[in-house]
This record gives sequence, C-alpha cells and structure tokens, in this order.
Amino acid sequence: MPALRPSPIAPTVDFEKDGVQHGFLRLPYSRDDSAWGSVMIPIAVARNGPGPTALLTGANHGDEYEGPLALFELARTLEPKDVTGTVIIIPAMNYPAFRAGTRTSPIDKGNLNRTFPGRPDGTVTEKIADYFQRYLLPRSDIVLDFHSGGSTLDFLPYCAGHYRPDKELEARGFAAVEAFAAPWSMKMIEMGKLFITTELGGGGTSRAETVRIARRGVANVLRHAGILSGAPDRQPTTWLDMPSGDCFSFAEHDGMIETMIDLGETVKKGEVVARIHDVSRTGAAPQEIHAKMDGLLAARHFRGLVKAGDCAAVLAVRV
Ligand code: ZN
Repeated sequence: MPALRPSPIAPTVDFEKDGVQHGFLRLPYSRDDSAWGSVMIPIAVARNGPGPTALLTGANHGDEYEGPLALFELARTLEPKDVTGTVIIIPAMNYPAFRAGTRTSPIDKGNLNRTFPGRPDGTVTEKIADYFQRYLLPRSDIVLDFHSGGSTLDFLPYCAGHYRPDKELEARGFAAVEAFAAPWSMKMIEMGKLFITTELGGGGTSRAETVRIARRGVANVLRHAGILSGAPDRQPTTWLDMPSGDCFSFAEHDGMIETMIDLGETVKKGEVVARIHDVSRTGAAPQEIHAKMDGLLAARHFRGLVKAGDCAAVLAVRV
C-alpha cells in the first residue's frame, strides 16, 4: 500500500507545550463564500509535564449536546496545575455538522463515526476522521467519545466499554466506564484502544440530568486515569449488555409511533414495545413491534413520526 500523504489539517496548538492553549484544527476548505477558507475546529490542550494523555471528544454527530456542553466547560475551567500529563479537548469534532445542528456534515453528508479511518485527500469529513485516526489517537492513552441519541433517538443515560480479545484491555475499559459512573453502563462489541463512549439521552437536545452526568463523568475518567488528582465520585451504576441483533427493532411502515413502555422499563419476549399507526387513512390496525427477547428499553425512536426502516426500539439486558 502506498504511504498516505500528510493530513491537510494544521493544528494551531502545540501538543508538547505545557500550559493551557485554546486553538483550532484548521482544515483548508475553499468554497463559494470563502476562497482559500478553512473549517476551524476548536481544540484545547492542557498539559503539565509527562504523564498519560486523554483525548476527549464531543459532537462526533452534530446534534448531540451533552459532550459539547461538558467539554466546552472543561476547556474553559481546566487549569494546568490540576493536570498530570495532557488533556486534549475537542468539544465538537464534526464541526460543520455541529454548527448546522445535524447528525451528518452539511458539506458532504459525512457521518463521521462511520467514516474511520478516513482519507487525507477525501471529503471534509474523511479528512477529519483521518486526522483523528493517524494524529490524535496514537498520542492518546485513553479516549472518551461522547454520544447521545441525536434528533431521532432517546437513550437511557449510559457509558459504554467494549468486549475485546485482549481481556486485560477489556477490563481496563470496563473499569473506566465504572469510574465515569453514569446511572447505566453498557458492554458493547468493537474497538482497539482504551476507548469508552456514551449515550446520554437524545432528542436533539440535552437535559439537566444528562449534562450533570457528562460533567461528572469526564472529571471522573480523568481522575481514574491519574490525570486529575483525587478519587472518582463513584455513583451506583447498573451494567447492561446488548447480547444480539434481537435487541433492535425497526419500523416496517411509515406512520406515527406510540411507545408502549418507557426507557428503563422491563419487557418480556413477545410483548408489544411500540405501535406504529397508519396516518394515511382511518380504520387501519397499527403495526405492533414485539420484543424479541426479555429485557429493558434502552433506547427508543424520538419524535412522533417514523419512516419504514427507522430504529424504533433497542432492548438491553442486565448483566
Ligand atoms: Zn452519536
């Protein structure tokens, strides 16, 4: 394979410099309203000597707000004297999507989370993914990537770690999730690094409770990693698992969704989780969505109208 060319993204911060820096990842993007213009992705780096490096990212999807709310504030308040090592904060990773308030980029429709490893000579979203993959991940010891449900899903607030072939790394991931101390914790499949993620609500907005969880969680993870001093503020958490594809139910018709149980409520296999009502005529029976397993409702479609193929409900089981 030919060597990849360098990223066109130029950071205005120096990752090796002590102190706090507020700058940008500048991505050249020439366009109608700005010849030789750039996408300016805000970044903060707080460094205090050698030690572990944490990479904290929000708005990988542009309509998810707990991460940006927690991370813009952390960037504003973090002091170098509180840090051992380095904290790299990118509150709004898919910045064009974040500014548009949309899941994907308005420039190229790129879904950043699905774009890795990206390309240095690709679309704007591919260039952002490539920069994270080849420049930021290699210098990070722990990664916390915030997600929420966005405009079309609503989640139980959870932090998630990943099952891995490397059981020692898996255990470290689950320990970091426990330190985050969201009310719910999830075991998921995938990933290579010490990488944890969240789903903290959704609906294209944030709630006071989920933002508090995000702020406590990010501070807890930095304490757990030894970057901030003190012990994590541990809170009770319930571990969940999504054991199979039976967790996911999809709408088979367009219509109006009626959720039959609320987030966190339990359901038995065969029970109706949601109904989709035909709105094109009267007199039609609703499509019933039945639970394919025993579990509890971990996520549901948000907004009243659904299209065929939309994710209607996600079940999980207590570990
Ligand atoms: Zn997301």
